[in-house]
Amino acid sequence: MKTSETQNGELRYIRGVGPKRSLIFQKIGIHSVRDLLYLFPRRYEDRSRFASLKDPPLGEPVTCKGEIMDVKFKPIRGMPLVEVLVGDAEGTLKAVWFNQPYLKKLFQPGQQIILYGKIEFYQKYLQMPNPEFELVEDLEAASIHTGRITPIYPLTEGLFQRSLRTTLKEAVDHHLDHAIHDHLSPELRERMDLLPLDRALREMHFPASFEELQKARRRIVFDEFFSFALRLFLKVKAIKTQYRSPAFLIDGKLAGEFEKSLPFALTESQTKAIQDLFQDLSREIPMNRLLQGDVGSGKTVVAAFAFLAAQRAGFQSAFLIPTEILAEQHYRTLLRFLEPLGIRPELLTKSTEPEKRARLIAELKQGKVPVVIGTHALLQEDVHFKGLGLLVVDEQHKFGVHQRNQLLRKTPRPHHLVMTATPIPRTLALTTYADLDISVMKEMPKGRRPIKTYWITRKKQPEVLTHMASRIQKGEQAYIVFPLIEETEKADLLAAKKEFERLRKTVFQKFRLGLVHGKIERPEREAIMRAFSRRELDILVATSVIEVGVDQPNATMMIIENAERFGLAQLHQLRGRIGRGSVESACFLFGEPTTEEGKMRLRLLTKITDGFKIAEEDLKLRGQGDLWGIRQSGEPLFRIAHPALDEPILLEARKEAQKLIDEIPGGTLEKTPFWVQKYLEQMPKTD
Ligand code: ADP
Ligand code: MG
Repeated sequence: MKTSETQNGELRYIRGVGPKRSLIFQKIGIHSVRDLLYLFPRRYEDRSRFASLKDPPLGEPVTCKGEIMDVKFKPIRGMPLVEVLVGDAEGTLKAVWFNQPYLKKLFQPGQQIILYGKIEFYQKYLQMPNPEFELVEDLEAASIHTGRITPIYPLTEGLFQRSLRTTLKEAVDHHLDHAIHDHLSPELRERMDLLPLDRALREMHFPASFEELQKARRRIVFDEFFSFALRLFLKVKAIKTQYRSPAFLIDGKLAGEFEKSLPFALTESQTKAIQDLFQDLSREIPMNRLLQGDVGSGKTVVAAFAFLAAQRAGFQSAFLIPTEILAEQHYRTLLRFLEPLGIRPELLTKSTEPEKRARLIAELKQGKVPVVIGTHALLQEDVHFKGLGLLVVDEQHKFGVHQRNQLLRKTPRPHHLVMTATPIPRTLALTTYADLDISVMKEMPKGRRPIKTYWITRKKQPEVLTHMASRIQKGEQAYIVFPLIEETEKADLLAAKKEFERLRKTVFQKFRLGLVHGKIERPEREAIMRAFSRRELDILVATSVIEVGVDQPNATMMIIENAERFGLAQLHQLRGRIGRGSVESACFLFGEPTTEEGKMRLRLLTKITDGFKIAEEDLKLRGQGDLWGIRQSGEPLFRIAHPALDEPILLEARKEAQKLIDEIPGGTLEKTPFWVQKYLEQMPKTD
């Protein structure tokens, strides 16, 4: 008999889960039987085939079974040892457990046992040290830990494999039907060839075969993508139907006028992106667009056009930027583009003088400032706009979602543009960025000389430094980058500092050197980078903190030390600090990778300069690596679904979700069919 409590799906009514284990589960976000059922195995071990005890394979994991013939308890050098002699029709084996004296009480001659572990020869006996085991009434009856395709769960402190597995078996056998209802429409389920949910969950935990597991996985993956897509499309539709943005009634000639004011011709990519913006901005439907373009592709110019359009329509714009130094650089760039058009942008950061800040805040409120560029300082409570029509965010991933939304939570809602230099593989675009329309700029401004990249042995460092010195004598600037990826890597930090000291006392005695790394307080760090931007320093010795942060077209050379310690995308991003001017830039990679993949990475960089191609190669090299489905928090978006590997299911699920949401009026959940509401209620949230 089930009590009414178990029907509520409370964990502590599962046999073996008391208040203590409930608490452990709660800590990892498992509050109900349903949550528990969605704690999927990390992997599976095939323990379904039994090895005979006559000549079993040695040194590899096997499952075997037999009868207990003898149980011994003997301490060896003070360490308790439980030794159990197990025999089947063909041979015998000693199972031994170290340091687990309590086990001896469990075993008695005559019992049937299943063992899983590696067999070795020890003093002429077959022996299996510390096996996983299961005592069974009847060897043919269903077992939990062995004798089957066995689930291996992810563990946290206080959770142990065996007991967790037992708990899941309990949950699957006795609580699943009460905790789970399949709300997916039967029509859709059949059309998509999906298992019923209860069966899928059972098979996910205790699969009868790998084929069944595949089918079960298909159902769960579909659910993950489908619910994700439903929620996303609902959100998009809600924004598009419930919110209104100001339609900028702009003259069709504005783009031409803008281009005439520039000192260069726009690239085709820029022209296309500007057209996309022009269309979005002239509608009341809120713009929600991502502008993607490699470092140096000229995104700021495109943003400048959007600012112009807003100003001409009588609205204000805000440009949100992750770091102070970048904000200053963008400010200077925009000043150059916008002033000739009669627009004076303003800069607001933490360093803005109090009087200037007070004046700015007053003017923003009166609508006198058409464009404000700034950091988090823009998000402070006393910053108000008279009419914010456009929000542009650079490198959005540096901001929390919450902070970003604060400026969007206005009526009417500002149009929203996100800019990023991170190349976005298709699967990411379909998931993480799926609520955004995307403009891609693949083309670089003309006259840009590709960066020459060399991968050479560090023994050549003196020659490279001489080359650096000669460039600096011509008035150019340079970077020397050390891998300090984790703040705790003391040895690397030491290396950067030591080399900095050495260089400025020897080869570069005559030059002005600066050192920046993450351990230097932000204001000081920014002051050093600023000095470099102002050409008050010749060489910047740095860690990857410069990855985003400095834009100095006069910097033409970069050395990257221990390049093998960086990822491909990161190296590309770093290298993007140079090659921004008209003088040909050179990047020298020092590194001795030990793996073939590592060598491949550096070799690729010497050959490819296109960020998209590099991202693609990176994905291939890392076998999807960690680029896919990354949340803002850095956690994966899905439990088991893999956007790239499961792309066919992703596309199917998106199509079905799109169809459903297209058919409803408005963007609210209440308008969806009842089963969709129940379905989403049950599906774990992914954001
Ligand atoms: P991104 O932000 O995409 O890395 P920026 O907008 O900072 O690139 O542009 C990089 C540099 O290229 C700037 O100095 C900018 O003035 C210049 N630039 C932008 N567009 C063009 C163009 N079409 N032709 C020549 N130079 C350009
Ligand atoms: Mg930029």
